[in-house]
Amino acid sequence: MSMQAMLASASYFVAATLFLLGLQRMASPKTARSGIRWAGWGMVIATAATFLLPDLHNLGLIVTALVLGTVLAWVSGKKVAITDMPQMVALYNGMGGGSAAAIGAVELLKFSGLVAGATAVAGAGAPGAGAPVVTLVLAVLGSAIGAVSLSGSVIAWAKLDGRLDKRVVFPGQQVFNLAIALAMVVLGALAVTTLSVHWIVAFFLVALALGILMTLPIGGADMPVVISLYNALTGLAVAFEGYVLGNQALIIAGMMVGAAGILLTRLMAKAMNRRIGSVLFSNFGGGGQAQEIAGSQKPIEAGDVAAMMAFAERVVIVPGYGMAVAQAQHKIWELTQKLIERGVKVKFAIHPVAGRMPGHMNVLLAEAGVPYDLIVDMDDINPEFRNTDVSLVIGANDVVNPVAKTDPASPIYGMPILDVSESRNTIVIKRGKGTGFAGIENALFYGDNTRMLYGDGAEMASALVSELKALDGGH
Ligand code: NDP
Repeated sequence: MSMQAMLASASYFVAATLFLLGLQRMASPKTARSGIRWAGWGMVIATAATFLLPDLHNLGLIVTALVLGTVLAWVSGKKVAITDMPQMVALYNGMGGGSAAAIGAVELLKFSGLVAGATAVAGAGAPGAGAPVVTLVLAVLGSAIGAVSLSGSVIAWAKLDGRLDKRVVFPGQQVFNLAIALAMVVLGALAVTTLSVHWIVAFFLVALALGILMTLPIGGADMPVVISLYNALTGLAVAFEGYVLGNQALIIAGMMVGAAGILLTRLMAKAMNRRIGSVLFSNFGGGGQAQEIAGSQKPIEAGDVAAMMAFAERVVIVPGYGMAVAQAQHKIWELTQKLIERGVKVKFAIHPVAGRMPGHMNVLLAEAGVPYDLIVDMDDINPEFRNTDVSLVIGANDVVNPVAKTDPASPIYGMPILDVSESRNTIVIKRGKGTGFAGIENALFYGDNTRMLYGDGAEMASALVSELKALDGGH
């Protein structure tokens, strides 16, 4: 092994260690920021080490791609609104899958003899002949998974960005999708056995189509599970292509993303009471006509809400996507501190899919400085609602909608919810009668014990703080 290659391997080892330590630090909100920096430095080292690899061709193209990618990511990362982060994560995830598929495509075309260049590091023999079966199979597998997560993530991005209907459903969809999945398997096998350019191209087109078709019917409560599944798949695709290229850094980073993504997917699916198979091949809710919700929404003024909370013994705050839109977390924490000073016991109830990305609410509350011991997960807080004097829902909708338990025709039927409707009084802060991500009416808002405090989340939280100060004689 040359000195350069040894240095590259040593750098990959350092990079992999940094990925691992970074990932470990991301497990706690306290150390998560530094974890991201550690993993980021790992990525810088891994990228730089690539220049040490022997027989590197197309240096100009590589540097151009690096500069373009860095500038694009830097500018978009700086500019992106915090509420658009989930869309950005979906896009970046898709690009990871796309890159893995692109590596697979180039390697397969090399083996077919269409693309000139050295045979892959893990391959052997002349192009078109003697390529190890394991390498070819992994190239095809990685390409299939990568292409599916590329096109699937783009559809997820379009749905999160409101550019596409939440669920696109047509008759016979599941059978059709199954046929496309089988076609992809057959074409993948033909691509491996014949190495014909036609079969390789057809295989990629069908894999991309499968990603689109699989994601179109998925909506509402299943989206978070699917997003983390694509994340896991991207990692696996990268690891497979890392084997094809004989690149340790890609194998290790890909396996880590894959393993962490699978664990996250399992956690999300468990929290949503769903099996991965049902997420991909059947939808929440039974379809049909949703039940009518009787009654009316009853408004309330900030002064009355402040008085209710000030004299309550126990208050639970339930944040949702609207709190992220309003960036109300800082004012909500100020409100919480005022209540705690008065002796009120305050807790935050977190639903696993509140917001638009896993952990969205935890990140916002941590950013505002809310201590972790006030933040309680759904399963632990649900039994406490019946002893809660006031539940303050801020910008949450689907995650507190009781129809998930009562209406089998609802698209969120079967999704576990926060049992806010059991508390003695519920106050809901939202701007008007807008629906949530699932696009359906919420029975909680019409409840006898519910009052609506209409307005922007940050403005209403500010108003509550001012009213509490007024109650305290201006302090
Ligand atoms: P929802 O999307 O159900 O509801 C958000 C509510 O916030 C809306 O009803 C809206 O009503 C209100 N709102 C919007 N802007 C403001 C504002 N400035 N001030 C006050 N209120 C505002 O949010 P939830 O968190 O309850 O549910 C999350 C949904 O997103 C679930 O369906 C989940 O499945 C889905 N999802 C979650 C992902 C995840 O990983 N967490 C990923 C993808 C989807 P109004 O317009 O009247 O103000």
